[in-house]
Amino acid sequence: MRTSFAVGVDVGGTRIAAGLVERKGRIVKDAVMLTPDSGPFAIVDAIIDLIDDVTAGTHPSEVAGVGIGLPAQIDFLRQSVEFCTNLPLAGVDVRSLVMSRSRYEVTLDNDGNLAAFGESRFGAAKGARDFLMLTLGTGVGGGLFLDGEPYRGSRGMGGEVGHMVVQMDGPPCPCGGSGHIESYMGRAALGAKGCEAVERYDGSAILAEAGGDKTEVTAEHVVTAALKGDEVARGILLEAGDVLGRALVGLVNLLNPKLVVIGGGIGESCGFIMDRAEEVMATEAMAGRRDVTFVQAELGNDAGVLGAAALALDEYDSREGLHR
Ligand SMILES: [Zn+2]
Repeated sequence: MRTSFAVGVDVGGTRIAAGLVERKGRIVKDAVMLTPDSGPFAIVDAIIDLIDDVTAGTHPSEVAGVGIGLPAQIDFLRQSVEFCTNLPLAGVDVRSLVMSRSRYEVTLDNDGNLAAFGESRFGAAKGARDFLMLTLGTGVGGGLFLDGEPYRGSRGMGGEVGHMVVQMDGPPCPCGGSGHIESYMGRAALGAKGCEAVERYDGSAILAEAGGDKTEVTAEHVVTAALKGDEVARGILLEAGDVLGRALVGLVNLLNPKLVVIGGGIGESCGFIMDRAEEVMATEAMAGRRDVTFVQAELGNDAGVLGAAALALDEYDSREGLHR
């Protein structure tokens, strides 16, 4: 039987969003809550509550299953959470816990992979067989589509674009490594750069955005000051764009993608970061640079939910022997 809906759940460091999604990608019911900070089981409870909430009133036979995106490295074949920096979920059997208390099949995947999945099925990357998605937000996430399929690597942990090394012995990264893209572009890194800048330069609008308190400077203050034209703040973000552009030189040389899709809160609000990254890529990459178009993501905050639902629908169809 061809079901009409799937549930997509997008678990982030600060909020969890869920949606009941039609096959064509329309979210017919959604719900959101803050991510609990009282341990892994509270997070699982929240996921189950959200699934119950969005499926209330829908017959279970109409729902293909649940896809859950986690900010974690997932062993896709075993469906286990292997590594998770922002939430206490590593080693927790999220899939079994959710399945035992809901009536649906559950599939886990990395949130960056699912954002790419959403953009591929319903958004900016529709029809693109080879593309790269970058989400610039709290962390730097990514997803790869190669030859029309999501590329996860041998066990599902590939596609971590944000954790490519761009500087030997560079600044620490939340993952435990150093000199990664996220060491320069993650919220923590941009906030730290903002703090340094207000110590060094008098009169930067960053301090005003932080209410005059040097200890309160965050990435958001840097972004807002930059959007208002503050040169110091713009300088911080342009430097991050340089770093990203260098990483993209490597990625374009390696993968020859057709599209680079940029999403995430910071990516979507600060187009000039990507303009700088694109400039660097266009100057330094080999011939494949001519094939690449940079585009903004189209699905915004819904990319994760839509991608998770699309994954659940695909998994259902392959279990049932149906074809897209
Ligand atoms: Zn890292």
